[in-house]
Amino acid sequence: MNPNFLQTPIPYLKGVGPNRADTLRTELGIETYQDLLHLFPNRYLDKTQYYKVNQLQSSGADVQVVGKIIHLKTVEQKRGKRLVATFIDETGQMELVWFRSHKWIRENLKLNEPYVVFGRTTRYGSTFSMPHPEMELLSEHQQGLKIAMQPIYPSTEKLSAKGITNRVISKMVQQLFLECKGQFPESLSPPILDELRLISKSEALFNIHFPKNQDLLAKARFRLKFEELFFVQLQLISKKILRKHKIKGLTFDQVGDNFNGFFKNHLPFELTNAQKKVIKEIRKDMGSNAQMNRLLQGDVGSGKTIVALMCMLLAIDNGFQSCLMAPTEILAQQHYNGLKELLGKMDVKIALLTGSTKKSERTLLHNQLENGNLNILVGTHAVLEDKVQFKNLGLAVIDEQHRFGVAQRSKLWHKNEIPPHILVMTATPIPRTLAMSLYGDLDISVIDELPPGRKPIKTVHRFDGNRLKVFQFIKDEIKKGRQIYIVYPLIKESEALDYKDLMDGYESIARDFPLPEYQVSIVHGKMKPADKDYEMERFVKGETQIMVATTVIEVGVNVPNASVMIIESTERFGLSQLHQLRGRVGRGAEQSFCILMTGYKLSEDAKTRLQTMVRTNDGFEIAEVDLKLRGPGDLMGTQQSGLLNLKIADIVKDNQILKTARYHAIQLLKNDPKLEKSENASILFAYSKMMKQSNIWNYIS
Ligand code: ADP
Ligand code: MG
Repeated sequence: MNPNFLQTPIPYLKGVGPNRADTLRTELGIETYQDLLHLFPNRYLDKTQYYKVNQLQSSGADVQVVGKIIHLKTVEQKRGKRLVATFIDETGQMELVWFRSHKWIRENLKLNEPYVVFGRTTRYGSTFSMPHPEMELLSEHQQGLKIAMQPIYPSTEKLSAKGITNRVISKMVQQLFLECKGQFPESLSPPILDELRLISKSEALFNIHFPKNQDLLAKARFRLKFEELFFVQLQLISKKILRKHKIKGLTFDQVGDNFNGFFKNHLPFELTNAQKKVIKEIRKDMGSNAQMNRLLQGDVGSGKTIVALMCMLLAIDNGFQSCLMAPTEILAQQHYNGLKELLGKMDVKIALLTGSTKKSERTLLHNQLENGNLNILVGTHAVLEDKVQFKNLGLAVIDEQHRFGVAQRSKLWHKNEIPPHILVMTATPIPRTLAMSLYGDLDISVIDELPPGRKPIKTVHRFDGNRLKVFQFIKDEIKKGRQIYIVYPLIKESEALDYKDLMDGYESIARDFPLPEYQVSIVHGKMKPADKDYEMERFVKGETQIMVATTVIEVGVNVPNASVMIIESTERFGLSQLHQLRGRVGRGAEQSFCILMTGYKLSEDAKTRLQTMVRTNDGFEIAEVDLKLRGPGDLMGTQQSGLLNLKIADIVKDNQILKTARYHAIQLLKNDPKLEKSENASILFAYSKMMKQSNIWNYIS
């Protein structure tokens, strides 16, 4: 087969044509033969099994039964008529039901003739019924070409409306196999095929579309999942190797006055063991001559900031500048203030750059950066602008990276001739296995311990009807001198309504917590930055007791005296977001509380989210549940990474296969780093082709 055959545009396939091609493209993203070949069925109807009526068991199963219709009747019901056939075999009777096409069926169905009926059964009492069965006379069934397992392809309303039914798609795939004579180039090597006892690529593709039986289907699935994950891992791992060996990094081999001085004289507390461990890992990375690309995971409040600071001091000791980027102005401001305070009288020049930095100040800043007078720049996205040039950027720390895209990360990279070390900090825990497949090219450090003396936050769920009690609780806490957050959802699709909810909520709180006894702040995205900062400032200083806000306060804000987090319409938030929000409290010595308010109507998913939040404070456990509920699609950075456009594998469910694939990818590159051995020719060929088509390489390269 011509190797480019599979790149043939889909309209060339017999039976497709321009109109259908259009629909296939918009609805399923199918443009080439290859895309169609990789449109894998969602499920299969097993037609190898025949059931007797008395063997039928559960509702919702697809079954095939041989028998006769002995009676047909029309039943009147409120919502129209239905046609009911009594269908029997030698073991019992069931019903076939039609809600449409009655005339046609009455005219065409033959009574007392053996039929094969196929469909999904529903149980009513002791009787099974099969709505709109597929029917075939037994005589024809025995003559016809038998497909053992009928593939069911993904579909959309528009596809069906345009006549591209499951059958039509199945026909197209058959046509494709005909044109290729069922032969597809192998993409794995003989040793891997042998060791894992994988079936060949051609056999796998055939059996994924037209399984001969369950066993071959399972083998086809395994082979294709393995292959998909194997090539993803191969990309990630070769990239990591490339970075470690080919890309020169800055070597920070000095530990000088800044690092040591801070450690001896300015460290306000003893570091936790986890913090020490992580600092050691980072020092080792930056001390080698390879570029560091490290992900630092640590639950909210685990103390990532001080780790970042100490790494930046190490950079200064080695004659380099650093920058720390945060996703919002408030956060950048807070980091700036926090770092300044920690540094005390140390001779370290630090500045803040955000979107609202004045022009005159900016110009000054740019100069200081370029001539090297500035050691640390803290800022928002503004730091990435081309005008911002460093004399010698040695370390870039990115806080809460899920707000930054990969493209932005790569911008940082280009701010220097030799790329700076990169430390990405996140409080969104990613289960390890997943981190491996998403960020297989990053090294990972974990702070898995909270500073001592923290009391676990108590979390409860309350229905809206109990609001008065909740308000009383707030009053009691305020009396004790505590501060309160009340957070409202703000979701793009319902922005206007959400703002109304927020303002209504604010008004009702202002009514129930009247001046001058109570002071209430409000912060939301539509406010001018200056107003936002002003309100935030008042809360941080303790001038207001209640902060009403949207999720703008989700990340990073640190007000240790705030001890109660009330989340409104909790059912509308995702788990990881709830966990982040809750992390705003529990930062001081006092017992903290998180109250999850909801309406009475809750979906099953929402219930699971609530129960999880009430049950545990452990970010990793929450991340696992979140992953199960939502799948990996929403995780940080995944949309951009392009690594999750998996066609058949599921990195959560197929974790075991993922590990196997990773293992084999590592072994392969160890034994044949350049894929030069002839036994690996097929891998090299498939891999090069993949690299040409994909663009995942263009981040940080
Ligand atoms: P996060 O990891 O969420 O960014 P922070 O760096 O903001 O956490 O730290 C949270 C709080 O814990 C800060 O007030 C910080 O000063 C404090 N902290 C950090 N490390 C320690 C420690 N080892 N002992 C005591 N307090 C610490
Ligand atoms: Mg932080």
